[in-house]
Parts: sequence; C-alpha cells; structure tokens
Amino acid sequence: MINIAIDGPSGAGKSSAARLAAAKLGYVYVDTGAMYRAIGVAALRREIDTLDKDRVLAMLPELDISLTFIDGEQHVMLNGEDVSKAIRLPEASMAASNVSAMPEVRAYLLDLQHKLAAENNCLMDGRDIGTVILPNAQLKIFLTASAEIRAKRRYDELIARGTPVDYDQLLQEIIQRDYNDSHRETAPLKPAEDAVLLDSSDLTLEEMVDRIVGMAQAAAAKEA
Ligand code: C5P
Repeated sequence: MINIAIDGPSGAGKSSAARLAAAKLGYVYVDTGAMYRAIGVAALRREIDTLDKDRVLAMLPELDISLTFIDGEQHVMLNGEDVSKAIRLPEASMAASNVSAMPEVRAYLLDLQHKLAAENNCLMDGRDIGTVILPNAQLKIFLTASAEIRAKRRYDELIARGTPVDYDQLLQEIIQRDYNDSHRETAPLKPAEDAVLLDSSDLTLEEMVDRIVGMAQAAAAKEA
C-alpha cells in the first residue's frame, strides 16, 4: 500500500488539499483530526471538562468511533451517529486539542489509524502521522502557513458555512492550539526528519494540490 503522511498546524490547508489530492490519486483520504474532534464532541455532549483527564479516559470505553466513506467523502461516526457537522463547530477544535494531549486518547485511536493505512492506499493527515503513526510512509509532507493566513482561511470557511465567528478570536485560538500541539509531551507537532516542507502561505489550493499529487506520483513510481 502507498501511504502518504501530511502533517502540519491547523488551518495550513491540509484537509482541503489532502482531500482533493486523494481524489485525483484515487486514494482514500483519512482525516485523523476528525477522530480527535469526535472524542472532543463526545465529551462536550456529556458536559465533561476536556481537560479533566480522568473523566475523559473513563468515557473512552463508551465510544465507538469509525469512518465511513460516502462518495469518496469521509464521514465520522460516533456511536452510530454521523457527527461530521458537529465536529466542525468552533468549540470542538479546542476540545479536540485538549483530549489529543492525553497519551491514552492517542493510543485509543492508533489501531484505527493503522488499520486504515494497512488496508488502503491513503493520504492521511494529522499532526504526528509522519513521526509516530506511519514512520514508514513512502512520502511525508509537512504543510505550514503563517498563523494570520491560517486564521483567515478558517474564518472564510466558517462564514461560508454560516457559522458566525470573530477573526481575532480565531487567530488567538490558532496560536494557542499551535502552542498546545507543539509543546505536548506525547507526539508533539513537528516535521519528521525525512518530511518535505511545504509552505502554503502564497500558494493557491490548486497549486498545493498539484504539488502534493506530483510528489505522490513520484513516490508511488519509485515504489513500483
Ligand atoms: O486537524 P484538526 O484541526 O481537525 O485537529 C483538531 C485537533 O486534533 C488538533 O488541534 C490537534 O490537537 C489534534 N490532532 C492531533 N493529532 C492528529 C490530528 C489532530 O493531536 N493526528
């Protein structure tokens, strides 16, 4: 199987670019952030403080998280319910960041991530895919962009979906999440040593997709 890891901070354009690149390549796109978000949403719904490790971990055995693919689109299922929309609400972002700092939560999702990679040619995006989850991926990309550009992209995305948001608050949240994600002890956000760095600040989505597809095709040809 060809496994491609795409890591980077929130809002760098990973999911949009990875989704389109996967469609062009005929690969499965796996959004691991959505899995952490589903756990975050499960906690919020139970009114569990997402920093309260004991309570978050006590909840895990009650959860059944899976991904289904409808027309090539990933849908996240939480105990049989499609939570693909709920996980995109702004409060789900910080909840996901909080629960993702818990090693037990990461271990809980590891099997699901490994299974998807073992069974599919896939493009998997997250924070630790190249460093921890798929260290043998044929291609690792670390996609980044300035915090301001990432906040603007998230702002446009949420407004387009009809979710009212404040740009400055989004920017602060992005800076806070970057800090959390890159300073946590377990699987911090950092490029793998053999990752290709791609700064998307001045790239259009199309250009990002073209670069990813080009690199993926080269990696697949090398493997063949
Ligand atoms: O990618 P997305 O912004 O949807 O991820 C939500 C949160 O989940 C991130 O801020 C990060 O804390 C966490 N995450 C992670 N490891 C991954 C994917 C996401 O820690 N592989």
